[in-house]
Amino acid sequence: MEQKPCIFCQIVDKKIPAMIVYEDEKFLVFLDINPLNPGHMLVIPKQHHRWVHDVHEFGDYWEVAGLVAKASINALEAITINFATAGFQVPHAHIHVIPRFKDDGHGEFPLRQTAKLVEDMNEEKMKEVYQKIKGFIEGIKPKVEEEPKEEVKEEPKRSEEDVHWMKRETEIG
Ligand code: AMP
Ligand code: ZN
Repeated sequence: MEQKPCIFCQIVDKKIPAMIVYEDEKFLVFLDINPLNPGHMLVIPKQHHRWVHDVHEFGDYWEVAGLVAKASINALEAITINFATAGFQVPHAHIHVIPRFKDDGHGEFPLRQTAKLVEDMNEEKMKEVYQKIKGFIEGIKPKVEEEPKEEVKEEPKRSEEDVHWMKRETEIG
């Protein structure tokens, strides 16, 4: 029987679009298509794993979640972040990173029923949030200092005749 293609693997392979705010060798972060608050992101491993706890580089994984969390607090002036892992809808490990705002309507934890700041969320507003977070992350990415390259002096090309006479000179002394 043909397996259903995993939607997040397709995002990793850039076969379907997503608002990607962070990418490195192992992880990808993009905006949730149906956010519970502005800036709701999903952090995924590029390699397919079923659950968050299956991800091999568990520490690195949460490190990325922390990085984008702090970036979105700054970029969106959020109070804090709620992290959540569920995974019953999409069977590819993902950490929900949900910025929280004063009077966002949610209680202790964000839920669909209480999501009021995203009631009028449209493409334009999603783009605005995306640009703010992405711009902030790009601004804090560690800049890799380029090592000055040592100049390699090329040996002058010698003809066979030159080589012959050079050898003769060393033989004669
Ligand atoms: P869950 O599996 O219950 O943790 O939730 C999966 C999350 O993935 C939901 O919040 C969806 O809105 C989100 N989602 C599903 N498809 C996409 C997609 N193509 N791009 C961005 N987010 C998605
Ligand atoms: Zn997958």
